[in-house]
Amino acid sequence: MQNRRKFLKNSLITAAGAGLAANVAYGSNPRLPGNRQERNFVYRTLGRTGIRIPVISMGLDSTKDPNLIRQALDENIMLLVTHETYYGGNSERIIGEVVKGRDRDSYMIMTGALDVNTVDEEKGLYRSEASGEDLLRRAEGCLQRLQLDYIDIFILSYAARRESVFFEPYLKAMETLKKQGKTRFLAIATHSFQPEAIRAAVDTGIYDIAMTAYNFRMDNLQEMDEALKYAEAADLGIIGMKALAGVYWDQERTLPINPAAAIKWVLENENIHTVCPACSSYEQLYLDIGIMENLKLNEKEKHDLLPPQGELSSGLYCQQCGRCIAQCPKRINIPAIMRSYMYAYGYGNLDHAYRTLCSARLDPTACRNCTSCSVNCAMGFDVRTKILDIARLQDDMPDDFMVPG
Ligand code: SF4
Ligand code: SF4
Repeated sequence: MQNRRKFLKNSLITAAGAGLAANVAYGSNPRLPGNRQERNFVYRTLGRTGIRIPVISMGLDSTKDPNLIRQALDENIMLLVTHETYYGGNSERIIGEVVKGRDRDSYMIMTGALDVNTVDEEKGLYRSEASGEDLLRRAEGCLQRLQLDYIDIFILSYAARRESVFFEPYLKAMETLKKQGKTRFLAIATHSFQPEAIRAAVDTGIYDIAMTAYNFRMDNLQEMDEALKYAEAADLGIIGMKALAGVYWDQERTLPINPAAAIKWVLENENIHTVCPACSSYEQLYLDIGIMENLKLNEKEKHDLLPPQGELSSGLYCQQCGRCIAQCPKRINIPAIMRSYMYAYGYGNLDHAYRTLCSARLDPTACRNCTSCSVNCAMGFDVRTKILDIARLQDDMPDDFMVPG
């Protein structure tokens, strides 16, 4: 047992290390910085905000390197996407230092905050004890760490069912933040029940933006595309996340998903205004910049998006459809655990993996007594094996692991 633990820990640390150095398997010959004036990025208007932004933004869940963020801003990346939970709040602190002295109109910061204990992931709702005051207090924390007077886009995290988007304590708190000038724009972020959440965001009349998972692996794309058209008609800005669909096809990280192909595939839908892949290296930054100069998906890239044959075809991406939960007699929060698995092995992001595993409240013995698993996963995952694997991560979780409270 001890050896297996050690193996898991070592393999994840290796994966995380590789992730921080090169989270995505990019080519070994990144483009060098060019003359910014010669760049011809594709820009899109972020819905009713009226702001034209490059079609690729910078996700900051996998880097703490201030120089990389500086370089991205110098290269005209405009939107930095963070959250109070990224590196226990340090992501926001680093951004605050990086943007000091810069023209406030030259960049935008999107961040969010929420007590994850108020989220009922199975139902896609917030629990009744969730309080708007807590959300306001957390937003203040974001502002203090960023050392800014206002946030550009403040996110309500874990929006899912329509009722969650209309959940009054949070809805009122979000409106208050905007009225007080603490944020310019309001957004929801949704990982599950996305079409319903996007439509609800439009119907509230208060949201400017929805940030949603969207990638070539999702099996409800028709429903998603209809919701995105609904959003477009109402001028809701759309930010795509999870474009890289788990980053790798396999746990050992030998079969990368072609990142340029995956991002271009998302951006073929013009109702997605920008995507925010995690950027943790200069190679990634310059690949993103190269993509923005030519969004056309070529034949090889289309071919690269075909799943490999055999058992690897299920990949690492959990689409958070939630169909598994009712199939498990113990009602394990399988979507959150599969998300943690994807963060650990696919994205190489242990910080995210730990945090997500915490929110899942997994009993590490839960699957041991099942001789066979009754869950038929929509993506074809061997759910039991993955749960037993990632449950061991809990044993290695640092004692001081925490999010700002
Ligand atoms: S584990 Fe499978 S069934 Fe469950 S949410 Fe993920 S993709 Fe859907
Ligand atoms: S093995 Fe499958 S059915 Fe059994 S507890 Fe685990 S997830 Fe549920």
